[in-house]
Order: sequence, then structure tokens, then C-alpha cells
Amino acid sequence: MNAEKKIRIAIQKSGRLFEDSIGILKECGIDINTGLNKLKAEASNFPMEVFFLRDDDIPQYVQDGVADIGIVGENVLIEKNKNVKKVEQLGFGKCRLSIALPKGKTYKGPGDLQGLKIATTYKTILAGFLKKEKIKAEIHEISGSVEIAPGIGLADGICDLVSSGSTLFMNGLKEVQVILKSEAVLIQNKELKKDQLDLLSKLVFRLQAVKKSKKNKYILLNAPNKNLDRIVKILPGMKSPTILPLAEKGWSSVHSVVHEDEFWEIIEALKANGAQGILVIPIEKMIV
Ligand code: ATP
Ligand code: ZN
Repeated sequence: MNAEKKIRIAIQKSGRLFEDSIGILKECGIDINTGLNKLKAEASNFPMEVFFLRDDDIPQYVQDGVADIGIVGENVLIEKNKNVKKVEQLGFGKCRLSIALPKGKTYKGPGDLQGLKIATTYKTILAGFLKKEKIKAEIHEISGSVEIAPGIGLADGICDLVSSGSTLFMNGLKEVQVILKSEAVLIQNKELKKDQLDLLSKLVFRLQAVKKSKKNKYILLNAPNKNLDRIVKILPGMKSPTILPLAEKGWSSVHSVVHEDEFWEIIEALKANGAQGILVIPIEKMIV
């Protein structure tokens, strides 16, 4: 295959984003052989080459055009501040970048950070936050195990990634201030050639179909014909619900698609209107 007609994607080589990055590509019908070569792999059914990198390096590689696109946490994207374009939120790798203080400290607001020494690996984002809040605090940059810094007297507090908060708890800390909410995003080099842009738009089309499908459920139910009008009004559907007669007289089978946000309300309304045998089925892809 012509080397020009491939898209090169950078993903994290191991760590919290690895599995889900491979997973979302797979849901887009792109299989990656994650075998022996830990640096590079070729997708088997899409013109794609995959580079496995440290997440911190991904924005730079995409900016420099070593990779055309990449998957990285927004936290890293913002911290590194490279000249790349964000293409799509990916819905996994969700976490918060937060300030945490020792459990016993009181915290009423950013003013309580005045004069403190805060350890972090996210000095750019933290500096931005402190500046916005007009707080003078010392930023102590360290490269790993930030959460132990207060315990060993290295800092008064920390600014680090949190998901469940259990690491903080184990280190006698409490989350007091969320600075950034983050998830994995797809980024692109700003000067892609036409071939790569075409491949990127194919990929984005598939990613959107996968994301949409996760937010929606296929629903089937039996409805008494006398209530059909009301039931159809409750169910939005992609265009409108499908209605098929059941063998039993006076009943119909109704099929539709329901968004997760309104799912339970709709189920309750359906039951209140005599719906029975409600089945809810995951959707694999959704193209509207
Ligand atoms: P690398 O070796 O690639 O530099 P790392 O140690 O920096 O790895 P990981 O801990 O694997 O990175 O986290 C990668 C990304 O996963 C984070 O930048 C963040 O976007 C996301 N993430 C989601 N939840 C969490 C969490 N609880 N703690 C840390 N990162 C999280
Ligand atoms: Zn990293």
C-alpha cells in the first residue's frame, strides 16, 4: 500500500488509556495487532499505523507531524499546550485535576491556598488556576507520586488527577477544589494532507456512530392498541416508532430508540400506559 495513504495514530503504550484506546478503535471496526513490536503496529483492516508512546509525548508528536492524530487526556493536552487541534471527545479516561489538602485543614475557597506550597506534575494548569483566582502560592513541580508529598513534608497540598479519591484517602488527603474535568480526546495535526484528512473523517464518522450508540438503547414492548396513540407520543424514535401487530388481537409490538438521559422517565410513562414485556437492547452502531 502507498505509504501516503495511511493515517498514523499515536496512543498511550501502557497505562490507563491503552485498553480503551485500542477498544474504541476496535468498535470502529479497526483491529490492531498489539503483539511483539511495542513501538509500532499496523491495523489489519484500515489504512492506519499505530505508534505506542508515553501519553506526555503525544501532543508534541502530533504537533510535529510524526503522527497525524493521537488519543490523549485533555489534562495532558492542556498542560503541554501544543499547537494541535482537538477533534472529538471520546468519553473514556474520565478524571478530575484537583487540589487536595491534608484531611484536617479547613477549606472554604481558593483564598485558603494563599501562601501554601503545592506539589504537582501539572504546573501550567495549576499556575493558570492560581493566576485566575489571584492567589499567590508556591508550585513545587515533581514528576511522580505527588500524593505522598504532604506526608513527607515536601508540600502543604497537592494538585493531581483524581477519579475515585481512594489514593487521596489512603494518604490522609481530601479533595478540596476541582480545577479541570478531563476525558480522553482525539487530536490532529493542523496541517494534514488530503489523504489523511479523508481517513480522519472516516474515522470520526465511525467514532460518532459508536458514541451515539452507547447513549441510546433499542426498546421493544407490547402495547394495547387502545393506548397506542399515547405510547407513540412517549417514544421519540429515530423518525417515529415501528408498530407491528401481535398475533393476539388488540395488541401491537412497538420498537423504538431511547436516549439514556430520558430512559427511566420513558419506561415509567410506558408502564403507566399499559405497556408490557418491555425489552431493552444495547445498540452496536447508530448512523442517523
Ligand atoms: P505514561 O507512562 O504514558 O506517561 P502516566 O503514568 O502518565 O503514563 P496514566 O496514569 O496511565 O499515565 O494516565 C493516563 C491518563 O489517564 C491521564 O493523563 C488521564 O487523562 C487519564 N486518567 C483517568 N483516570 C485517572 C486517574 N484516576 N488517575 C490518573 N489518570 C487518570
Ligand atoms: Zn504520562
